[in-house]
Amino acid sequence: RIVYVNGDYVPEDEAKVSIFDRGFLMADGVYEVTSVLGGKLIDFDGHAKRLERSLTELDMAMPMSADDLLAIHRELVAKNGIDEGMIYLQVTRGAPGDRDFAFPPEDTPLTVVLFTHNKPGLADSPVAKQGIKVISIEDIRWGRRDIKTVQLLYPSMGKMMAKKAGVDDAWMVEDGAVTEGTSNNAYIVKNGTIITRQLSTDILHGITRAAVLRFAAEAQMKVEERPFTIEEAQNADEAFITSASTFVMPVVEVDGATVGTGRPGPVAARLREIYLEESRNAAI
Ligand code: PMP
Repeated sequence: RIVYVNGDYVPEDEAKVSIFDRGFLMADGVYEVTSVLGGKLIDFDGHAKRLERSLTELDMAMPMSADDLLAIHRELVAKNGIDEGMIYLQVTRGAPGDRDFAFPPEDTPLTVVLFTHNKPGLADSPVAKQGIKVISIEDIRWGRRDIKTVQLLYPSMGKMMAKKAGVDDAWMVEDGAVTEGTSNNAYIVKNGTIITRQLSTDILHGITRAAVLRFAAEAQMKVEERPFTIEEAQNADEAFITSASTFVMPVVEVDGATVGTGRPGPVAARLREIYLEESRNAAI
């Protein structure tokens, strides 16, 4: 696999980043994951805008223009022959000589790394036809979940708690309400209304979420943006998650309770179909 590191395209085993990199030492960095369908990028503009926002919130500047980032994404897709999969992009506050809690001088070059993840069959996932199962865990992450930082230890532990419990993922709960999944936004459907938590610093502002809510509105589906509880999810007609790597993925079990019929529901199935079709058409 050819990867990108600070201006160079190199085989992955030749890519080097300093041990003093603040991403490595302090999780001082942000990332984006963009999906690729038919060799084209899904929602690249949304990801580039959110990257800029994450960087700005942490007093970092865009390391290059969105157009230059797009060119690198395309080059990596081409070099690695990706038809379906993902591209991961990470920007960290670079590698000043010494470890110091204070930020280094602003002219310290940021570290920019991109790599592809080849996933043939991503869109036609058999999992989407079955749905996934989730457990709930307490959300003990920091208070700026709207910034897409590489501090992913707790979500990673959450995923392991889910695996140990024999399910696929965990929904995090704070003050009695679901915030989001370990790496996705969470939704329920009740009496035809799609319910998902409103945007705030409590959750990541999913790029897939924005697109799905737009398509839902265009299809005259009712959407309510508010927090919901695990009990509501267990009593919902349907549940699902969204993310760049899963698109719209039905959830059929929450903390051991079957949601709806225990099979993917019509709203989630329809939204997945619309999302994939519209996104393919708009891919660049
Ligand atoms: N919430 C969290 C915590 C995530 O990590 C992700 C995916 N990275 C999402 C939501 C979904 O965001 P997107 O649709 O932009 O992939």
